[in-house]
Amino acid sequence: NKQVLFRSFLTGAPTEENMQLRTAEAELRVPAGSGGVMVKNLFLSCDPYMRGRMREYYGSYIHPFQPGKVIEGFGVSKVIDSDNPNFNVDDIVYGITGWEEYSLILKVEGLRKIEISDIPLSYYLGLLGMPGFTAYAGFYEVCSPKKGELVFVSAASGAVGQLVGQLAKLNGCFVVGSAGSNLKVDILKNKLGFDEAFNYKDEPDLDLALKRYFPSGIDIYFENVGGRMLDAALLNMRPHGRIAVCGLVSQHGVSDPEGIRNLTCLIFKRIRMEGFLQSDYLHLFPQFLSKMAEYYRQGKIVYIEDIAEGLENAPKAFVGLFSGRNTGKQVVCISRD
Ligand code: NDP
Repeated sequence: NKQVLFRSFLTGAPTEENMQLRTAEAELRVPAGSGGVMVKNLFLSCDPYMRGRMREYYGSYIHPFQPGKVIEGFGVSKVIDSDNPNFNVDDIVYGITGWEEYSLILKVEGLRKIEISDIPLSYYLGLLGMPGFTAYAGFYEVCSPKKGELVFVSAASGAVGQLVGQLAKLNGCFVVGSAGSNLKVDILKNKLGFDEAFNYKDEPDLDLALKRYFPSGIDIYFENVGGRMLDAALLNMRPHGRIAVCGLVSQHGVSDPEGIRNLTCLIFKRIRMEGFLQSDYLHLFPQFLSKMAEYYRQGKIVYIEDIAEGLENAPKAFVGLFSGRNTGKQVVCISRD
């Protein structure tokens, strides 16, 4: 059983040295009476929140990884042995699993069976999984969007951002995205239907860049990055604008976060800025799943993935999230059957 272990806590950005590959003997049967399942992992998800689990102190909503133990994350897996009446051999499931070829899952409460078969399995880690649900809950529940509003999305070509932009277009909004390469900008405009997009790395003055795309201001900012982008967005918000704080990926591992100078805009412009966790909205998950699957079938939503092949490439793929190496949702393929 090939595995990726968490090796050491970090303070800055993650590196491949924080993880370690090993091969261990595997007992591929579920202990009788455990109520668990044994799965073969097919696809694993690389998500920015996992970096938070690599810090020793994590006074947040989820406990840290343990050094020497297998890394955990979302995955799509096939059941190969079951001691649980709700799961049968050959069921395909998604939920939290290990970064390894085979995992024994004893806590099965979070596992969902994949019932929709006409959609690529890896999409259950993106379009139809946690990132897709984050886009859905964040956009509809936190942003309170109205037709015709002006929407700005950062990290717009990523797992979450690409869907926020497309949902905003379906909602009749004007949408601009920022991303970190010209290829990503091209994808935003020509594949994902954003009205405009720009490469923030080519913009010495983000305030001026936003003024160029939003001469009359921004109604909704879907915040994925933080730092100087947030500061520039604050200056450009319209009165009664909404900022949904989904993530601050530029601030992960930054020991001296960039100062935000424009918070007074919240008062003068009566802006609502709200942080959220997708997990607060799980009651909407079934509705999300059927709506997103339908949009996909109708060709109203497309999804861009970046698939790394092989468990041995998982650490590199994960580390790449923090320098923008991924174009679209970063997934690792362990096995296709
Ligand atoms: P992405 O697929 O967007 O990958 C991360 C991207 O962030 C990179 O590709 C890169 O794109 C961008 N990035 C990395 N470092 C920087 C930086 N220093 N400055 C600006 N951009 C940077 O990830 P997700 O879509 O999965 O996640 C997006 C955000 O949503 C993250 O902040 C994540 O933590 C958050 N999130 C929050 C959830 C919640 O419940 N609140 C749930 C899920 C995700 P580029 O090339 O454009 O720079």
